[in-house]
Amino acid sequence: MRRWLFADQLGPHFLDTPDQPVLLVESRAVLRRRRFHRRKAHLVLSALRHRASELGDQARFIRTDTYREALGRLDEPVTVCRPTSHAADAFVRSLDDVEVLPARGFATSAEEFAAWAEGRAGRRLLLEDFYRRTRKRLGVLMEPDGEPTGGRWNFDADNREPPPRNAARLDVPAPWRPREDDIDARVRSDLDAWARDGDVAFVGNDGPREFPATRDEALAALGVFVRGRLREFGRYEDAMLADDPVMAHSLLSASLNLGLLDPLECVHAAEDAYRRGWAPPAAVEGFVRQILGWREYVWHVYWHLGPGYRHHDHLSARRAMPRWFAELDADAVDARCLATVLAEVRDHGWVHHIPRLIVLGNYALQRGWRPAEVTDWFHRCFVDGYDWVMVPNVVGMALHADGGKIATKPYAAGGAYIDRMSDFCARCPYDPRRRLGDDACPFTAGYWWFLHRNAELLGRNHRMSRPLANLRGLADIDAVAEQEQDRGSDPP
Ligand SMILES: Cc1cc2nc3c(=O)[nH]c(=O)nc-3n(C[C@H](O)[C@H](O)[C@H](O)COP(=O)(O)OP(=O)(O)OC[C@H]3O[C@@H](n4cnc5c(N)ncnc54)[C@H](O)[C@@H]3O)c2cc1C
Ligand code: SF4
Repeated sequence: MRRWLFADQLGPHFLDTPDQPVLLVESRAVLRRRRFHRRKAHLVLSALRHRASELGDQARFIRTDTYREALGRLDEPVTVCRPTSHAADAFVRSLDDVEVLPARGFATSAEEFAAWAEGRAGRRLLLEDFYRRTRKRLGVLMEPDGEPTGGRWNFDADNREPPPRNAARLDVPAPWRPREDDIDARVRSDLDAWARDGDVAFVGNDGPREFPATRDEALAALGVFVRGRLREFGRYEDAMLADDPVMAHSLLSASLNLGLLDPLECVHAAEDAYRRGWAPPAAVEGFVRQILGWREYVWHVYWHLGPGYRHHDHLSARRAMPRWFAELDADAVDARCLATVLAEVRDHGWVHHIPRLIVLGNYALQRGWRPAEVTDWFHRCFVDGYDWVMVPNVVGMALHADGGKIATKPYAAGGAYIDRMSDFCARCPYDPRRRLGDDACPFTAGYWWFLHRNAELLGRNHRMSRPLANLRGLADIDAVAEQEQDRGSDPP
């Protein structure tokens, strides 16, 4: 039967046989519904059109307004692998002549996750448990005697160092970058024309495509990463450098989320790099943990917690996201960390995990911006943003809007943490040590204001007892709160 492939199901593992007939749909309505980053729209359309071109006559490629219209033009039933959002899942299940198959593109099935979650009924779904169980089940980084490779399950203590002193960049080979072709040129001219006609609108700056759009490109990017860059991955995975936004990160999320790469092939490539001596165990374990641990966990938690999860607002964060942030207006911002990271998002549609969590998400948390708006912003502005991955990462990880279902405490951090883990503060007009006065760091002061505002609610969480005790020791907290109330959501 013909297989309907969504634009994030583009790899060969979404087909039963290499010659299976395919349906691909390019829907303009999807672009019209949301104001996506220009680079994200380009990447997704480029990947879809490249797949259609590769498949040639094997695919019916329908460019139309809505999916429903495209299906109306078809006179045969189709199968589809479970799509990646609650809305799309409900949509395909509502259609006649569409058979919905289990999801692909993940290493753990819904049944395996459900069996694990059921065994933990009433207890927290701990990532570490899930990750170890998955490694054992798949025999990843496992020795024949059943012990974890390198003698430990977790190398976090060896990883996560501050950036090297006095180095503007990490000493690793450059990441793989694509060369654009005629398909990219046509995508660019279509997007320009649609924007000119007022049919769609974008946020962010255009520029040469920076992420793989085909499987061959994605495999090339994976190869460059495991051969030369993986060795420094774990050590600096939590560090930030103003002039080196990529550091030793893999840049593979966009390819994984488009379905161009299968997670297990990335894991096996990293494991192979360890066996060949290209990367130490701590780096390889750190990377495998991200893919087999975090990525899989986030995917299953998205389904497990249901469509209502996105609406959680445990901290009653009701302030609107300000325009300068929504529009990626980095030039309006003096705070060097936030200005630098926002400019990266504006110009590339990507920053690594720590700027997402500790700069962007942390600022939204501290300022009390509405979780639904922040989730939507991340989804639209990042080249790798999809509903399934954004909702748990933003609602659960960054904003603690779920009250602790995913992260045991809020990832609120002041300027001292940013100063330790980056080189931003040295050339910032603010001082990370100060919470009061003209040069008070908005992250440091914002941290205390956040705790002060939410002290009662957070007081029920024993992991917050130390920060709350420190808060009670601040003689100037009322002045700090007043100062930050005044700063509010203005660009800092
Ligand atoms: C607020 C916030 C929003 C995020 N939004 C997204 C998103 O829209 N799409 C997305 O793929 N990731 C998201 N992440 C997770 C993570 O930041 C990105 O996967 C990562 O930065 C992508 O860059 P990379 O490929 O170089 O990752 P690396 O640092 O090289 O990590 C390797 C891979 O691990 C996976 N991974 C690591 N952490 C996570 C995680 N928390 N959730 C899911 N996968 C993970 C990704 O597939 C990534 O490619 C978000 C994190 C936060 C805190
Ligand atoms: S001083 Fe504060 S605002 Fe400035 S870069 Fe450091 S953390 Fe960011």
